[in-house]
Amino acid sequence: MKPDRPRTSAPAGAAERRAATPVISYPVDTLPVPDLAADDAARRTAQPVAALQVPPRAARCFHVPAGCFLRISCIDGPQVGDLNLWAADNLDERFYAGKTRALHGTHLSRGDRLWSCFPYLRPMATILHDTLDWYGFDADGASVHDVIGTRCDPYTNHLLSGADYDRCCHSNLTRALADHRGLDTGEAERHVHDVLNVFMCTGFTRDTGQYFMKASPVRPGDVLEFVAEIDLLGALSACPGGDCGTAHSSDAAACYPLGVEVLRPAEPAATRRPPPVNGYAGGHGRGRGD
Ligand SMILES: [Zn+2]
Repeated sequence: MKPDRPRTSAPAGAAERRAATPVISYPVDTLPVPDLAADDAARRTAQPVAALQVPPRAARCFHVPAGCFLRISCIDGPQVGDLNLWAADNLDERFYAGKTRALHGTHLSRGDRLWSCFPYLRPMATILHDTLDWYGFDADGASVHDVIGTRCDPYTNHLLSGADYDRCCHSNLTRALADHRGLDTGEAERHVHDVLNVFMCTGFTRDTGQYFMKASPVRPGDVLEFVAEIDLLGALSACPGGDCGTAHSSDAAACYPLGVEVLRPAEPAATRRPPPVNGYAGGHGRGRGD
């Protein structure tokens, strides 16, 4: 955090330096535009092919074939979910929350894409439907579906409290992937990564820039839907923080299950093509293989 009283006095011309015009770091106008209308039409023909419930303080894995839809729903009460995504045939290609944030902003909604890590950096999924898009940014600067909060984990909890808690989203995702892939938890853990915080309401305090959460506005019936750009393995954790209005990393909060459905369209959108992996030649300033 920045000090209340800086140890260095402002130089002459400080006001001019502060007045520099912000420039969007990654303008997205050159990105391929998803054909949302075509996916909307395909979605209207889609039928469920798989459905499961994620129990509170646990996680579950699921497959979403390319061109199919993933629907995450709030069922019994306000509940936040932590989402991991991998390429179904390659766990090394996983969701990159940081670059997704740099491209689309701190909180996602319809039309935003979930990008994979280097060297792949391609869209893994595109958000198609968000029943919380009415929320926008509130007076605290908070919004929903963030890519800023990483995930609750037992290490930070131990660091801050000295206690061991095994039902953080990081551990839930680790157990779910271990069970799904027949891995031990040590092997599975290295594939768990920063998440999309589904339904979570978060922001940064305006005075100190600290990450904060507040009770999620999500209610039973709310959904977040994606179309899969590639064959996906997903994992969703029902966060021990429940609506994350008070605490996480404990059994204190009321927690509810989350619904997961995979829907297959009668016909995928005609314009749909699997996105190629990133086109960078990979030299890093040296010849390939140097
Ligand atoms: Zn969590």
